[in-house]
Amino acid sequence: MKNVLIVYAAPEPKSLNGAMLAAAISTLKGGGMNVEISDLYGMDFKAVLDARDFPDRRDTVVFDPAAEQMHAIATGTIAPDIAAEIEKVRRADLLIIQFPIWWTSMPAILKGWFDRVFAPGFVVNLQKGQVYGNGLLRGKKAMVVVTAGSSAELYSPAGPHGDLHQHLRALTHNLLEFCGLEVLQTHVVYGAVGIAPEDADREIERYVDRLLAL
Ligand SMILES: Cc1cc2nc3c(=O)[nH]c(=O)nc-3n(C[C@H](O)[C@H](O)[C@H](O)COP(=O)(O)OP(=O)(O)OC[C@H]3O[C@@H](n4cnc5c(N)ncnc54)[C@H](O)[C@@H]3O)c2cc1C
Repeated sequence: MKNVLIVYAAPEPKSLNGAMLAAAISTLKGGGMNVEISDLYGMDFKAVLDARDFPDRRDTVVFDPAAEQMHAIATGTIAPDIAAEIEKVRRADLLIIQFPIWWTSMPAILKGWFDRVFAPGFVVNLQKGQVYGNGLLRGKKAMVVVTAGSSAELYSPAGPHGDLHQHLRALTHNLLEFCGLEVLQTHVVYGAVGIAPEDADREIERYVDRLLAL
């Protein structure tokens, strides 16, 4: 494993997520990895899939997003900002997907990154049954890294929110594994709202240890 792409979706660099990103970059680079970053807020990444993503439409009358995605991938005509992200994913052996939990899920800008970049024809081929173990991203790994405002107790299986790992299965299983990625254990920082600075520092160290163990 040599090439790491960190897809990062947090709006404030001077945040706990920002500190974790900086720690990850220096840890991975220190370990000899090539690290690329997609800082979605920093890039002002366009978050909605729409007809503008397809400058060479196969059907200019009725807009069928999935059909246009397959056509654009096959013909190499997808919008340049998506093409650049696709190349980053192609180069990566490991994708780190990092974000603060918002409404028990990912920030909209990251959902938009998946909608636009994980195009059929690039990540799966439904016609040929190339999903899950045969997904087109097989051979690559992914790790989801999140901070949650709520505590581990609130997000435990018996807690009022329910198990966070189950909520995240829409991402870890139905999206990442669906595309053939081997998904590593999700790294969660619970109780991020109101966390004491020394506990935040300990969480950053725990994240660094996790990365060193990869
Ligand atoms: C729209 C929305 C929806 C949300 N929905 C949910 C939800 O469904 N479930 C849930 O659990 N939470 C939810 N939250 C809370 C959210 O998950 C947290 O606000 C987020 O995880 C905190 O991460 P942060 O990077 O923004 O931390 P920050 O707010 O930046 O920091 C948190 C604490 O970490 C420490 N810290 C900050 N920066 C540093 C640094 N540079 N170095 C060391 N320590 C630092 C400080 O002690 C700080 O108080 C929601 C928030 C929003 C805005």
